[in-house]
This record gives sequence, C-alpha cells and structure tokens, in this order.
Amino acid sequence: MAQYPYLSLNEYYRNLFGRKTAKISLDGGFTCPNRDGTLSTGGCIFCSAGGSGDFAEDATLSIAQQIEKGKAQTQKKWPNACYIAYFQAFTNTYAPVEVLRQKYEEALAQPEISGISIATRADCLGADVLNLLGELSLKTKVWVELGLQTANEDTASFIRRGYPNKIFIESAQRLHHIHIPVIAHVILGLPNETMEDMLNTIDFINRLPIHGIKLQLLHVLAHTDLAALYESGAYIPLEQEEYLEILCRCIQRLRPDIVIYRLTGDGDKSILLAPLWSLRKRESLNRLHQMLREKKIQQGNSDCP
Ligand code: SF4
Repeated sequence: MAQYPYLSLNEYYRNLFGRKTAKISLDGGFTCPNRDGTLSTGGCIFCSAGGSGDFAEDATLSIAQQIEKGKAQTQKKWPNACYIAYFQAFTNTYAPVEVLRQKYEEALAQPEISGISIATRADCLGADVLNLLGELSLKTKVWVELGLQTANEDTASFIRRGYPNKIFIESAQRLHHIHIPVIAHVILGLPNETMEDMLNTIDFINRLPIHGIKLQLLHVLAHTDLAALYESGAYIPLEQEEYLEILCRCIQRLRPDIVIYRLTGDGDKSILLAPLWSLRKRESLNRLHQMLREKKIQQGNSDCP
C-alpha cells in the first residue's frame, strides 16, 4: 500500500530501482540565456546568483569530483543507495552539444550512477540537444526538468520567464515523443496569483504528456528583484497554512499518474529572506499529511469536497 495519498518520488524510485535512490546536485558550469544577455541580463525575478542551484556542488570541481563529494555526504545515511546525477544549476542544455555530451557522459561513467536528470529551460532544446538526449536515453535513464512556474502568461511575463506557454508545450511533446520523461517545475505563491491561477497551472499540466511535477514554494532570496518587491511591501509571501491549503487543492487536482517530486523546496538559509517558516520543512510536511488525512484527499480525486 502507498505510504501517502499521492504518488511520491520515493515510491517511484523504489519501483524503478528497488532501493533508496539519492540525487546528487551538480553544477556543470553552464549559464542561462535569461542572464547572459541573449534574452535578458536580469534573469527571472526570483533567481539567485547560483542560478537556482544553490545546493549544487562546486563548479570548480570536475563532474566526477562533484559526484564523489556528493556520494561521500550521503553514504553514511544511505549506504546501499544508487544515485542520479542531477544537473541543477542554471540551464543545463545551454552549451554546444559536444560540451553537453562530455559532461553528461562523465557523470554516467561514475560508479553507482543510475541515470541523469537535467534541469533546463523549454526554449533551450534544439534538434541537436534532443538527438543527444534521445541517444543517451537508449543506454540509461534520462529525465528532463522544464521550468514552467505558471501557466498564466501575464505572471510568466512579470517574473521574466522569457518564453510563452506554447514553447513549453512543444518541448514537453518533443521529449515525450523520444520517450524522455518530463518533470514540470511549478512555483506556488507567485506575485498576484490566486488559487484559481495555480489550479489552472495544474490543469495545464494534466493535459500534457508530463511524467512528474515539482511544486515549489516561492522563496524570497537576497539580492534578487523579488527581494526588492518584498522589502517595499509589494510582495507578501504565503503563510504556512495558506501554502498547505494550496498544496492540498493542487494534489487533489493533479492527474493520479504524475509523480510528485517535491512539495516544498529548500531555500538556501544564508540568503533566504522569507518565508522563514519554510525552513521548518519536516513540520510543514507533517501538517500537510495530517490535512490530507482529515480532508480525505487523494491525488486526482477532485470530486471530493
Ligand atoms: S531560467 Fe533558471 S537560471 Fe535562468 S534566470 Fe530563470 S531561474 Fe535563473
């Protein structure tokens, strides 16, 4: 019987690999077209200097060294785990295809690496990159994580995502066509978004060939444009109860076959301005599970009250 009333990442990995699977966050030394001047220099309004990869290993180390370091950190806790190399920081398909091939293959050549997960933008998946990913997926497990954040085009412009929904749809379909599972990254609590907007984003995902979802609370990080909005009072972060209520509704609305990769998110403590309650992650998850039980909510049972 499933541990939670939703399809959790642990359950998915256990079914796939038969044991605990841990991700090692890597920094491949890439940049992002939304920051290097190709699309803009400001980036998304919430993006930190680490390019949304504040927990990734050190980019001055090789990929092999980063993996070795990541494994050493987790081996005590999970001695028999297998690992996914997670290219997390910045845009991990934004480089000449031969550079990408070298980085991905270096990761896959390390012992106990069972696959790679690549976080990227939906507008950075040209034909050459798709060919490479398709080729790798014939030899190993490959997942691609695409930043959607919201299906509301006005919010997407406000946060400077830099591409319309149409591009996300096309990329998700192209990846699905070459049998690569797509994980949609969604942010809850974006400026001016209502419950209806967030549920519309879930509906948008439900209509696409999406394998997994990351639901991430919007964090206000120091030295970002979002931080300036927050400090001026123009952005008010979600309270814990509000966030948990939104999560309950999103889980209830989500297609039952979509794997839930994340329900909270980690803000780097050293630069997190708000909401500070988000640091109490265990407490939030316990409270969420209690609310799901009390309200008898299961993933995909949107007929419930
Ligand atoms: S796409 Fe990612 S790395 Fe680029 S600016 Fe936005 S959050 Fe930062």
